[in-house]
Amino acid sequence: MTAGDKLFGRLLKRSAVVAHEPLEPLVSPMLGLHIHLDDDGAVLQMAGPLRHVLEQQKPHAQPLPLSDYLLAHSCLAIEGQPSDWQGQLLDLDFACLGDQVLHLRGWAQRWGNGWLLQLMDIADLLIERQQARHHDACQVIAGQISEQLRSCGPLRLPAIVSEQLQVIAQRWHIPCLALALLDEQEQGWQIYRQFQAHDAPTLWHDGQRLGTPLDSLNGTAPQRLDAHHGLNEHSRVQIIFGNADGFAVPYSDDRGVVAWLLCGFYDVDHAAPYLTVRDWMWLASSLAAPLLGRLREQQHHRQHERLESLQTLLGTGWWEIPGVGDAVQLAPSLAAALQLQATRLTQEEWLTQIHPADREEMRSCLHALQQRGEPLTLSVRLHPADNEQAPTWFRVQGQVTGNAEHRRLVGFMLDISDIKNQQQLAAAAHARLDNLIASSPAVIYVQHYAEGALQPAFFSASLQPLLGLRLEDCSAAALIERLHPEDREVYFQRTRQLLREGSVRARYRLRDSRGDYHWLLDEAKLLRNDLGLPVEAVGLWLDVTDATLAAERIKQSEERYRILVEDSPAMICRYRPDLTLTFGNRPLANYLECTPEQLPGIDLGTWMSDEQRAAFVQRLTLLTPDNPVSTAEISLQLPGREHAWWVWSDRGVFDERGQLIEVQAVGRDNTEVRRSQQQLTQSAKMATLGEMATGLAHEINQPLNVMRMAIVNVLKRLSNGDVQVDYLTDKLNRIDAQVQRAAKVVDHMRVFGRRSEIEQQLFNPASAIEGTLSLLAEGMRGKGVDLRISDTGFQVQVRGYVDQLEQVLINLMVNARDALLSKREKDSSFKPWISIYAERDDLKVRLWVEDNGGGIDPRLLERIFEPFFTTKPIGVGTGLGLSVSYGIIDNMGGLLSVRNSVEGARFCIELPIAADD
Ligand code: ADP
Repeated sequence: MTAGDKLFGRLLKRSAVVAHEPLEPLVSPMLGLHIHLDDDGAVLQMAGPLRHVLEQQKPHAQPLPLSDYLLAHSCLAIEGQPSDWQGQLLDLDFACLGDQVLHLRGWAQRWGNGWLLQLMDIADLLIERQQARHHDACQVIAGQISEQLRSCGPLRLPAIVSEQLQVIAQRWHIPCLALALLDEQEQGWQIYRQFQAHDAPTLWHDGQRLGTPLDSLNGTAPQRLDAHHGLNEHSRVQIIFGNADGFAVPYSDDRGVVAWLLCGFYDVDHAAPYLTVRDWMWLASSLAAPLLGRLREQQHHRQHERLESLQTLLGTGWWEIPGVGDAVQLAPSLAAALQLQATRLTQEEWLTQIHPADREEMRSCLHALQQRGEPLTLSVRLHPADNEQAPTWFRVQGQVTGNAEHRRLVGFMLDISDIKNQQQLAAAAHARLDNLIASSPAVIYVQHYAEGALQPAFFSASLQPLLGLRLEDCSAAALIERLHPEDREVYFQRTRQLLREGSVRARYRLRDSRGDYHWLLDEAKLLRNDLGLPVEAVGLWLDVTDATLAAERIKQSEERYRILVEDSPAMICRYRPDLTLTFGNRPLANYLECTPEQLPGIDLGTWMSDEQRAAFVQRLTLLTPDNPVSTAEISLQLPGREHAWWVWSDRGVFDERGQLIEVQAVGRDNTEVRRSQQQLTQSAKMATLGEMATGLAHEINQPLNVMRMAIVNVLKRLSNGDVQVDYLTDKLNRIDAQVQRAAKVVDHMRVFGRRSEIEQQLFNPASAIEGTLSLLAEGMRGKGVDLRISDTGFQVQVRGYVDQLEQVLINLMVNARDALLSKREKDSSFKPWISIYAERDDLKVRLWVEDNGGGIDPRLLERIFEPFFTTKPIGVGTGLGLSVSYGIIDNMGGLLSVRNSVEGARFCIELPIAADD
């Protein structure tokens, strides 16, 4: 027996059959069985160790024939008497205890007066024969299985395994049979395929995961699992076998146990007593070995495919320099990426693919790898097909593998153009940023936190150009030294706040390398670690020297302006659109009889009449961002003063939506000028009256003459005694009319001679024409001047002073009269006329005064409105008439102009029609 058989035998509990303790010897041989027979073949006596295993026969008086001890089929071998058997080998099967059979072989020989049958146990011999038979069958089936599995298509593999499991199961009567392989992760076991006899309970299914219990089995030999006497460590395995008897055959290769053939509901001792351990191992390997080979091949193939596609996708591939030769082998994908036809080329050809700029470095690194085994890591460009193209970058890596005899250089090339290009872009962006920071008035710094203090650790390159300092010059202590003494406390405060609150903003002065101080705006943030402890501070220094100095200058200039404003003799103030003062200087306060401090909040309109205030506010509404300035003369009723005239200039301040939010105003007291102007107008008026004296005398003479005539006539009648009441009444009425007429002239003269009103009034310019005519018409006609008055009866109103407009009209008519009379002096046939007419449009009304006095010398046209310009003899003309008239019309917002018409001068008074007309 071989050692394996012994082991197997032990496993199969066959020890009772094949190995037994020798029986206690009597007078007997050491081995076998000796039987003493009589001549008829009846058993007289037995001796030898096997005697005890025979089925005990009941004691008989007569010896029993030998055939009674034998199994039926053996009786044939002992036909007749012992003498007949002499010289023959006898194979006899004895019935044993417990239905066992004892296979014995022996021969008969004469012994005394009987026969001695000497028999030996031949059971082992028979078992071996059986085993050999089963072994052969096993070999055949195993060969068929392997053959089937090797030759089938890859898709048929699971089906073939199922089929072959069925073959094995049916041959050796195995109810459930399965092949378990390691799962994909090689961490647990999984049923690859299983077969189940139609009458067997289900134990497994295809693809079932078993976990790791099988690992606890001893993988060097088949494992028998006894349903009732399962070992402790097997109990987990037992679950796999459904708590039935089981049998597990391992298959191992160089990786260890890689498959189990599992037999369920199977008592191997009884079902397949003649299959040896080797046979079972053989069967398992016939199934597992080719299957695993095929599966690994498939896996390998898939991996290869994956690798290939991965390489193609990545633009990468392996390269290899086998042995000592000059040849380089490239992965097909790499050859394709390099646009090479062949995958095998010389090292020199390979190097030719590399850009000349990188080629020598690559050669040198390759050399170092070949000679000294230094790992190769390099980024190289490919030799570009044309120079226009952006270069293709490859990362080349390589190392030495294999032992001294089979030394190979292997590595890969990976297309890193994307990364390289990005790197270059990033580097360019970085450089730009660095450049920007370096050229900006900003320094980025990092301060490390250590034991409650912040130590400068990094400054951006802009530190040098900005402050002329380097990191070494900026240690914590040196930095304090460089701070302006007045600002050191600010800096300490800044650090404390930064550590406490996590961020800070401070402004202090720092001395640069030349000794000049820079104002730095410092904004810093504290970075903390996961535990919330400070790690470092990151901050920015912004050089705000210019801005700070500018702000300083602005402050100074503001101060200067403030002084200027306060000391200015002009009134300066700011007020809101509702006329509430927000600021006013001392001169304004003086006029308003208070202190500058009392001014804010005072309503500027307090000193204006309702009309003035309305006009003032109206003027403000005309201010726009494009046209923010307006100047006007305003009149106010100041406390304790009769009347004040201010020339007032407003500048509007607007918000972004164009809304007026404030007005800045400068004012000058114009009252004195106004007064003298008024006086001038007044004197001019008086002068006009004086000039009109002749006309006026005529004007008054006329009614006086009429009255005298009436009185003379009445007196004549009275002296005649012819006094009729009707006649008298008529005459007296006429006299009364004339008295009224004279009174009207005198009244008007009185009115005209009065000073103008303070405020402008609304009036119809036609009334001024009427007034003028009442004063002048008679006189003019008396001088033979034809007055042509057109209808001026339209309703229109202008703002100003009616007496002043009359004064202008009188001036124009008197001037015209003078020109006409002096012309008639030269030509007595001349027929002088003065024409007065008016017209209006939507905005303006125009009054024309035209004569046929020959006009004004064109060279003088420009100058006639100048004060004291006159062509009249000294003592006659004053030269003020037109200039005062011009001022009056201008003051009413109008314009006085002159042109020469065909026959004479034509003056035009243009006046704006009052808005509320
Ligand atoms: P005065 O009448 O005292 O000379 P004015 O200012 O009224 O002063 O007139 C200035 C000058 O304009 C006159 O001297 C005269 O030469 C000229 N002038 C004014 N009106 C007329 C007119 N209608 N025709 C011709 N010349 C005129």
